[in-house]
Amino acid sequence: MRKIHIIAGLRAVLVMLSLALIYLAIYFIDPQKARWIPACPFYSLTGFYCPGCGLLRSFHQLAHGNLSQALTFNLPAVVSVPLVVGSIAIDICDLLGFRSHRWPVISNQACWIVAIVIIIYGVARNIPIYPLYLLAPH
Ligand SMILES: [Zn+2]
Repeated sequence: MRKIHIIAGLRAVLVMLSLALIYLAIYFIDPQKARWIPACPFYSLTGFYCPGCGLLRSFHQLAHGNLSQALTFNLPAVVSVPLVVGSIAIDICDLLGFRSHRWPVISNQACWIVAIVIIIYGVARNIPIYPLYLLAPH
C-alpha cells in the first residue's frame, strides 16, 4: 500500500515537472522567431488553416500575459485553457491522494458536439468573409 502512494507521488511530481518544462518552453521559445519549429503540415499541404493553426503562438502570447493577442491566434485554445488546467490540477490532487471534487463525466454526445464545433471552427477560419476571417491566425 505504501509503495502505491510513493509511485503515485512520483507520478504527480513527474507530471508537474513536465508541465513546468512545457510552460518554460512555451514562454521562452517564440514560435514566430524559431525557424526550426515546423509549419503546420495541413497548412503546408493545402494552404488552409486547420483548427490547431496558431496554437503555439497563442500559448506563447498567453504565457506572456497578452490575452488579446493570444485570442487572435487561436480562440478555442485560449478558451479551453482553464478547463485543461483545472482537469490537470484535479488529476494531480488525485495522484497525491487528496480528495478532490470530481468533474462530471463527459458524455459521448458532448464529445461529438465539441468535435463538430472544432471542425466548424476549422472551416470558418478559412472563409474570407467578415467576421469569419478574424478567426484565422493573425
Ligand atoms: Zn494547422
